[in-house]
Amino acid sequence: MFKKVLIANRGEIALRIQRACRELGIKSVVVYSEADRDAKYVRLADEAVCIGPAPSAQSYLSMPAIIATAEVTDAEAIHPGYGFLSENADFAERVERSGFTFIGPTPESIRLMGDKVSAKQAMIRAGVPCVPGSEGALPEDPKEIVRIARSIGYPVIIKAAGGGGGRGMRVVHTEAALVHAVQTTRAEAGAAFGNPEVYMEKFLENPRHVEIQVLADTFKNAVWLGERDCSMQRRHQKIIEEAPAPGIPRRSIEKVGDRCAAACKKMGYRGAGTFEFLYENGEFYFIEMNTRVQVEHPVTELVTGIDIVQQQIKIAAGEKLPFTQRQIEMRGHAIECRINAEDPVKFVPSPGRITMWHAPGGPGVRVDSHAYTNYFVPPNYDSMIGKIIVHGDTREQALARMRIALSETVVEGIQTNIPLHRELMADAKFIEGGTSIHYLESWMAAHKR
Ligand code: ADP
Repeated sequence: MFKKVLIANRGEIALRIQRACRELGIKSVVVYSEADRDAKYVRLADEAVCIGPAPSAQSYLSMPAIIATAEVTDAEAIHPGYGFLSENADFAERVERSGFTFIGPTPESIRLMGDKVSAKQAMIRAGVPCVPGSEGALPEDPKEIVRIARSIGYPVIIKAAGGGGGRGMRVVHTEAALVHAVQTTRAEAGAAFGNPEVYMEKFLENPRHVEIQVLADTFKNAVWLGERDCSMQRRHQKIIEEAPAPGIPRRSIEKVGDRCAAACKKMGYRGAGTFEFLYENGEFYFIEMNTRVQVEHPVTELVTGIDIVQQQIKIAAGEKLPFTQRQIEMRGHAIECRINAEDPVKFVPSPGRITMWHAPGGPGVRVDSHAYTNYFVPPNYDSMIGKIIVHGDTREQALARMRIALSETVVEGIQTNIPLHRELMADAKFIEGGTSIHYLESWMAAHKR
């Protein structure tokens, strides 16, 4: 096992990784920007190194600064967390070439899944169900494009091969708008992602977002750890996640989960990963794979009892998965609410000093957050300041625990989306379960948000 790990991230996930290291008896080094000098994980760190000013490009995205810090601190491995450099194949490659272990998949896997066209082709080969669409990237010939769209049937969605974060997508309802939409998406994708390639998919009108968590070791063992329902989204940003997904027959989840684990084996995948699907009319359709730990991983940890971050570290250290698929059991129900520093009505970020922070507690309540009373939320990064995650024997109990947890939570000095979460936990449709990815936005429109 490693003696020392460098954490190349910030915020709640830096603290989460630090805790996993501590439990495994590993010393951790955190890197931080000038804006994060007072962060909790910096204060709690075994070692902390300031690597640059607030802008991410000069700190959390600076590969030379991070690798140099690993060198001077004698770290053996680097955990990239999520966001920042976590899905950057060049970074993974540079880490390994510099003699460190990258806690994540191989650069080849990251590259394969980072290009959505090649990812989809790999999934089709591995027998994972995908959204019907073009075979690979769209050709130049407008006539061909029209033919492909006709064979798929409208509406279609044009997506950038290099897209991410909900960007680089355009829905097309009519043939008249098609060719122009393809050209515009290409131009935008070229400018935003350095790759003008686009592909076409059937646009599913009212799906749910359901994803499968996987873990794979370097001995060709791969398991899936159940599913998460992340349909409560605004502008493609998830805000509430739960496990298991309400109302989906276990048999169909097991079928798709087994396919994901088999795909990992076939691809020689290693580490943690997530297969994201849209789910509509009883069918799963793969949309993308994330080759890193996800924000919402704790709901899976609470229902399976498996520490995903510790497993990532152990896999990277060359250990075998300590369980087989049959030993993995899902118990009860877990829900996560992401707490964002933002105006709950206008949804603009609300950085600043937290004058009072009181986190909830009690049975089945977990809070992953780097915030504390007097913490200054910097304006430079993502607005998420923490996550409240609850576990109950049933979904009803988890909902009740989340309502209590939210009522106990106090955050003063800045605005947060806690009032929105309180309302949603009392919403009849959400309580019923199984809402689509459009539900939250239509709810907000109906509530004049
Ligand atoms: P990103 O990498 O930008 O997150 P995804 O491929 O995961 O892109 O898609 C993001 C979101 O866009 C999905 O969660 C869904 O809301 C919507 N979306 C993507 N593909 C389709 C599709 N074929 N039909 C309907 N909605 C889609």
